[in-house]
Amino acid sequence: MIGLIDCNNFYVSCECIFNYKLKGRPVVVLSNNDGCIVARSKEAKALGIPMGAPAFQYKAIFETQKVVVLSSNYILYGDISHRVMMTIEEEVSDIQVYSIDEAFVAIDHPDQPQKIREKVMKWVGIPISIGVGSTKTLAKVASDLAKKTPSGVFHLSDPTEIEKTLKKLPVEEVWGIGSRLGQRLRNLGIQSAYEFRELNDEFLRNEFTVVGLRMAHELRGIPCFTIEEIPEKKKSIMSSKSFGKPLTDFEDIAEALSAYTAQAAAKMREQGSVTHALEVFLTTNPHNETPYYANRIHVTLPEASDFTPTLISWAKGALYSIFKKGYTYKKTGVLLGPFSDKECVQRDLFDPTELPEKKRKLMSVIDQLNQKSGKDTVQFAAEGIIRPWRMLRENVTPRYTTSWDELLTIHSHRKLS
Ligand SMILES: [Mg+2]
Repeated sequence: MIGLIDCNNFYVSCECIFNYKLKGRPVVVLSNNDGCIVARSKEAKALGIPMGAPAFQYKAIFETQKVVVLSSNYILYGDISHRVMMTIEEEVSDIQVYSIDEAFVAIDHPDQPQKIREKVMKWVGIPISIGVGSTKTLAKVASDLAKKTPSGVFHLSDPTEIEKTLKKLPVEEVWGIGSRLGQRLRNLGIQSAYEFRELNDEFLRNEFTVVGLRMAHELRGIPCFTIEEIPEKKKSIMSSKSFGKPLTDFEDIAEALSAYTAQAAAKMREQGSVTHALEVFLTTNPHNETPYYANRIHVTLPEASDFTPTLISWAKGALYSIFKKGYTYKKTGVLLGPFSDKECVQRDLFDPTELPEKKRKLMSVIDQLNQKSGKDTVQFAAEGIIRPWRMLRENVTPRYTTSWDELLTIHSHRKLS
């Protein structure tokens, strides 16, 4: 059987580990620049605060209902996710980490899910729910039921129960179908996951290719997707963020772009890739009344590279060619890719500089230092020090687990009698 493990209200649960006062209270976590609601505690959901809504629209409710509003602390969430996954890994024969708070695992014994739940709670302090089914798609269906089950575990294996569940499940909620394909199915008169599953194979293949056929088979309990142990390598990496405040100077924007480029390059090196090209974009705020301008430019590198200084210098050059004075900018970003493997780089015949091994060693030392001692332990001067463009994060909690000077502090008071 396959299990889908999902951490409950993940970002909020991460915050609760370090602040017990948050338990039982309505808590929301906001996205970058404190824009939208990206996580809600059970109590916040009960107040009718929807997922993805812009935070400013709910300001009044936040105040009257005493909602705790937090900025996102992705460094903390990433580290807690890693701990959760490591803990699960010890208990299963196969695992595929699917997202920051989800993983598919092999379930070899009926008691295993409960054991995993208890262990993750005890070791990391994160509540999880586990749905079990004979295919990935059924495990995903079961995981939604698990969230509503007090035990946190749901086995979806009885054929009559599967049928009953799929009849109640709107077709667009099936894993991989989504709203567009869901609409097409609804136009054909197919409303539920059950009706989709019962379509005949030839029709499925003709209308929805082999992809649709596989989804229907998975709902029938015929496995089409296996647990992939090795995650597929990314083909490109994007790094982009809105500035904390509007920017007009080239130097400030170039600084932000350099920082985003360094971040993307570090991620790329992590999977052993080098990039042949990069794309830079720059935009003003389309919703403001100030003049609108947006542009992007694609640059092909003379030699594929993973060397941050090289990439920063190309990115800045690209930015220079699309930057126009007199506008108020909101956002810039860089896209690295397409990639190839770092072991098979075609060298530039006319490049007289030192061998790539030397640059590679330098990058690997920097990456190691930043991994060991925290992000930005070593950074490039081009990324700036004061960083006036930095994101707005007014209520961000400390990086409790990844930064020595932000460890949890406990004060103890002894009563003298
Ligand atoms: Mg979740």
